[in-house]
Amino acid sequence: MDVVATIAHELGHYLGLHHAFNEAEDGNIDLCEDTDFCEDTPAYNRYEYQEYVTEYSQNKKLTYEDIVVLSQRTDCKTHITSTPNNIMDYEISFMNRFTNDQKARIRYVLTHSPLVPGPKVARSITRATTTPQEFPMRMIK
Ligand SMILES: [Zn+2]
Repeated sequence: MDVVATIAHELGHYLGLHHAFNEAEDGNIDLCEDTDFCEDTPAYNRYEYQEYVTEYSQNKKLTYEDIVVLSQRTDCKTHITSTPNNIMDYEISFMNRFTNDQKARIRYVLTHSPLVPGPKVARSITRATTTPQEFPMRMIK
């Protein structure tokens, strides 16, 4: 994979984005569930997509036209096919886009996360806490 796309992908995670494909917290990718909290990314079953790519490319030298075809994703919920080219994907894609919902998540993280430098949205604190706070976090590879 291109190092620039990899860095952009990993920075996407740092800024709060999940993978564009469906992925359960236990790593299961054979499901139809929108797991990235962005409604404008297609919810696609990565396992089924990988099976499709294997079958499509068997005994075939891929051309640019094949890459265009394989860059398409079919939303498993709506059955609508699109070419998202999303930077938070792993599979065959030009990986050069963020969606508006992803942009909104990044902006939210930039202005709220204590782990990201920069100006934050001011909040009025009405009650002091004395115990460690649980934040919703999970490891992403
Ligand atoms: Zn990733």
